Amino acid sequence: MSAKRTRLQRIEVAVAAGVLVAGIVPETAFGYGLWNYGYRSRSVCCNTVTNVSSGYVTPVSRAITAWNRAGTPCTFTGGSAPYANILYTRSYADAWRGLYGVKTMSNSDPYHRCTSFFILINRRICDAQSTNYKQSVVAHEIGHSYGLADITVGSALMNTNRNRNFIYTPQLDDKNGVAASWAR
Ligand SMILES: [Zn+2]
Repeated sequence: MSAKRTRLQRIEVAVAAGVLVAGIVPETAFGYGLWNYGYRSRSVCCNTVTNVSSGYVTPVSRAITAWNRAGTPCTFTGGSAPYANILYTRSYADAWRGLYGVKTMSNSDPYHRCTSFFILINRRICDAQSTNYKQSVVAHEIGHSYGLADITVGSALMNTNRNRNFIYTPQLDDKNGVAASWAR
């Protein structure tokens, strides 16, 4: 990796952290939380191949399949095409496991503002964990692209306190949240 790219990556992380702070407060009193930084289309395409290391191929694939079988209004297409949306697995000094960052956004849809995003999976934290754990981290970040915010309680992928070895597919609360997000 070139030094230039490393600096670019740092910038992306800083932007993402700002977005997360802005969107951290759930809008509803239900278990799930909604935010306005989900992807603008219900058909989400993301490069999940080019920047994904071998140990994450299976968990990424399973996370996508699980969401696509969940019966939500959204679909997630992973692949190697040069989509604007990109998933990276890399090591970062930070303590977070996964991170969803908005690259570009528009205000034309007040609830689904993201026009391109990236997902970072922190190998420094996740490499030593199980396949299910890695899948849980990836599936959580996909949930953000569908319009879900972090929550801190309940049986849900979006619960940041969940047991990632046991909750790694969309739960009822996650599905209800995606439906509510797109009903807005
Ligand atoms: Zn999150």
